[in-house]
Amino acid sequence: MLLRRPLLVGLAALTTVALTTLGLAVLAVVVLGGRVDRANETLSALQDGHSAMINQETGLRGYLITREDRFLQPYYQGVADMEQLEVQLNGLAEEDGPLLEELAGLDAAEARWTDNWVTPMLASPPAMADVAALSDLLSRDKRLFDAYREVQADVRATVEDRRDRAISQQRVVLLGGAALGLVVAGVVAVAVRRANRRLAEELLPPTRQVRDTLAALAAGDVDRRATQSGPTEFREITGDVNALGQALKDRNALVAERERELVDARDQAERAGQAKTAFLATMSHEIRTPLNAVLGLTDLLLTTGLTPEQRGHLETIASSGDSLLTLINDILDFSKIEAGELDLETAPFDLHDLVYDVAQLLAPQAAGKGLDLLVDVPADRSWRFAGDGPRLRQVIINLVGNALKFTRSGQVLIGVTAGPGGPGDDVSCAISVSDTGIGIPATQRHRLFRSFSQVDTSTTRSYGGTGLGLAISQRIARAMDGDIEVDSEAGRGSTFTVRVRLEALADQQPSYATGLAGRRVLVVDDNPTNLRILDHQLTQYGAHCVLAAGAAEALQELAAGDPFDLAVLDLHMPGMDGIALADAVHARPGTATLPLVLLSSSAGVHADELTEFAARLHKPVRPDRLLSTLCTVLSAAAGGAHATRAASGQPATAAATDRLRVLVAEDHAVNARLMSLYLDQLGHDCDHVENGRQAVDAVIAGTYDVVLMDAQMPVMGGVDATAAIRALPGPQPVVMAVTASVLASDRAAFLEAGADLFLTKPVRLAVLEQALSPYVTRGPASVPAAPDAAAAATGEVPALDAETVDELRDLGDDGFRHLYGQYVTSLESTVAALLAAAGGPAQEDDEESMDRLAHRLKGSSAALGALRLAELCQRLEDLGSGLSPAHGDLLTTLEEESTRVRSAVRTLLEAPQ
Ligand code: ADP
Repeated sequence: MLLRRPLLVGLAALTTVALTTLGLAVLAVVVLGGRVDRANETLSALQDGHSAMINQETGLRGYLITREDRFLQPYYQGVADMEQLEVQLNGLAEEDGPLLEELAGLDAAEARWTDNWVTPMLASPPAMADVAALSDLLSRDKRLFDAYREVQADVRATVEDRRDRAISQQRVVLLGGAALGLVVAGVVAVAVRRANRRLAEELLPPTRQVRDTLAALAAGDVDRRATQSGPTEFREITGDVNALGQALKDRNALVAERERELVDARDQAERAGQAKTAFLATMSHEIRTPLNAVLGLTDLLLTTGLTPEQRGHLETIASSGDSLLTLINDILDFSKIEAGELDLETAPFDLHDLVYDVAQLLAPQAAGKGLDLLVDVPADRSWRFAGDGPRLRQVIINLVGNALKFTRSGQVLIGVTAGPGGPGDDVSCAISVSDTGIGIPATQRHRLFRSFSQVDTSTTRSYGGTGLGLAISQRIARAMDGDIEVDSEAGRGSTFTVRVRLEALADQQPSYATGLAGRRVLVVDDNPTNLRILDHQLTQYGAHCVLAAGAAEALQELAAGDPFDLAVLDLHMPGMDGIALADAVHARPGTATLPLVLLSSSAGVHADELTEFAARLHKPVRPDRLLSTLCTVLSAAAGGAHATRAASGQPATAAATDRLRVLVAEDHAVNARLMSLYLDQLGHDCDHVENGRQAVDAVIAGTYDVVLMDAQMPVMGGVDATAAIRALPGPQPVVMAVTASVLASDRAAFLEAGADLFLTKPVRLAVLEQALSPYVTRGPASVPAAPDAAAAATGEVPALDAETVDELRDLGDDGFRHLYGQYVTSLESTVAALLAAAGGPAQEDDEESMDRLAHRLKGSSAALGALRLAELCQRLEDLGSGLSPAHGDLLTTLEEESTRVRSAVRTLLEAPQ
């Protein structure tokens, strides 16, 4: 609007200038130009008329002097031209009255010359000799013609005057036009200047305001508004900007409202999550705490003297407790993973050791089913990685556990491979578990990794399980940047491969032992996989291996002539088994003293069958254990006797020479009791306090090596107590957090407070012993005498199985002595009861009947390694409760054997530890 007026004014001015200039040009060119042109034409016609008059006069004069007619010709031509010119001149002066009058005067002057001179002269020309007449005539002509000339000159002057006036008018018009243009341009310039000033005055302030308001709105000041001012359009723009500000304010209010709602929702979800986590923690604690007592006390009871029946019941309790624990762990694990709380930890671990640990853990299960459990880990690289070893172990345990569960016969092979990469690299590791079990139909494979899903409900019922293991394992593998793959054929077996990415660490033991360098070792096994693994392991230690797939092939190799230093024989082989092969080998003259090592699963071998063997190894064999066993056997053979302690593959660990002073901070009476029993068993001194405050006071008052700290206690919790202990001056005890909590946050709190270790309830005896072992100062390692070294040397079956004895030493010296002491006491009383039962009347269902007594003695004898006595009990049990002549002989032998066992136990307990 504001701009429109100056624009219109400018346009109007320009139009005026243009039209005026055009009008003046038309005036100058058309009107005034016409006049000039007409004047010029008139002058030209006047000139032509004058010429025609002169022609006439000149011709007539010539005629007058010569009297020749040819001189009349110009006269006639002049007359004709004059007639035409008169018409033309009258036409040109048509609208000019005064000029017409002057032209009429000119015509009259011509007519006078013609009438008064020409016409009479032509009518009666004087004689040529009449000079006077002629002269008179000519002077008359001159007079008349001069009169004509004067009139013509006047007319001409008039026309020239007309023309000059027109020309000066033209000039005036053009100058006027130019002046007008200049004036209009000046006016327009002034108008534009004024408009510009008004523009600056009226538009700039509101524009600036609008701009400032927009900037403020953009910066978030949604309350800022612009004052409406200036022209209408600007008021409208300001109105729009203010409306925009209001819209922004409304939107902000809406967003703030939504945000509040979202924060509320998030807080609610967090509270729900916390409630769930708290529920998990509480549930875990509440279930694990009593389970701790159940399992721990069962463990302890199992180490006491028990009747076989009691032992059977207790073992059922222990295995059911274990299943319950597994189930609780699975469910808690799964809930944690589902709640997104799978916190992976990163710590260095050795994958090789981890896989062998798992294999050893599950070896008894494999042996129980007669399955070969094999491990194949290439030795040509480092297996040290940084990652969550315990979680990976959980996955492998699950896969191997499944493989064993779903395989009736054959083998389970754990293979480990890794991609290339040095320290610091992310390496892809694959752990595959292959079995020869029932397999999984292709149609069912999609169900494997679903939670609570099993391939076949009817099958599963017979196999047990929750259907959670694979779902958990897959999630763990995925959290480790990997996955689990399945390859399976129904009826043929399955291979589960878990791939994870782990950071490779530098190897701590880069050099490999070469303790078997130059030794020729014969390895006999019908299982080609195991042959390959053993070959690999032994070759790596420098041995030269000869492989035989069975007894016949082995005997052929022995007969071939080249002497062997040692032979490793598998127990279970088709045709001739390892024991028969050992007999055959030693029966040959050339190999009668060849040291033999039996490779078997832990179950099913009687001590008297082991006489031909220098050592026994359990599958799967750890490479280091294989090496140390074979080295021991070879050095014993070099000393001229069978290795007597080789059965366990390594010397027994010496007993602790230092007793640890352990403080147990635990409010739960049963758990505290269990801990003190464990510690007692492990040969340590133990004090008990019921809360964190008392624990701190006890640490101030006394000197403790280790504090076992429960998490949740009245007065002061474990985390606070740990922090308080760490704040004390002086020597610090080792603090081991013992809790039932499964939450990583609880662990973190404890570790932050300064705890050294974290033990999860239920704590088992072996776990506690392992945890305490680094803090126990041990005496120099000594190899105690074998329980029945003499018997072994004479080829007699030892009264006590060396390996079982060796394993039981893991209970600690006091536990070990307590166990065997109780056994000897119950052995004496049970044998006496058996003899009494043989003498008395037979009673059905009597706990003191011969077969029940034999059954009980069989169990405890087998558990403590008195295998021959256990076998005699079995035979007695097989005979039933009715007395027969066979009973007499058997009882005599049993009594003799029991005496031998008692003396072996005494020797064992008297031996320096
Ligand atoms: P669970 O073993 O507790 O039932 P898992 O999640 O570990 O749970 O396994 C789910 C199902 O997958 C099993 O019930 C079984 O049907 C099938 N399965 C797992 N491993 C094997 C295997 N090695 N051979 C055959 N079937 C298997």
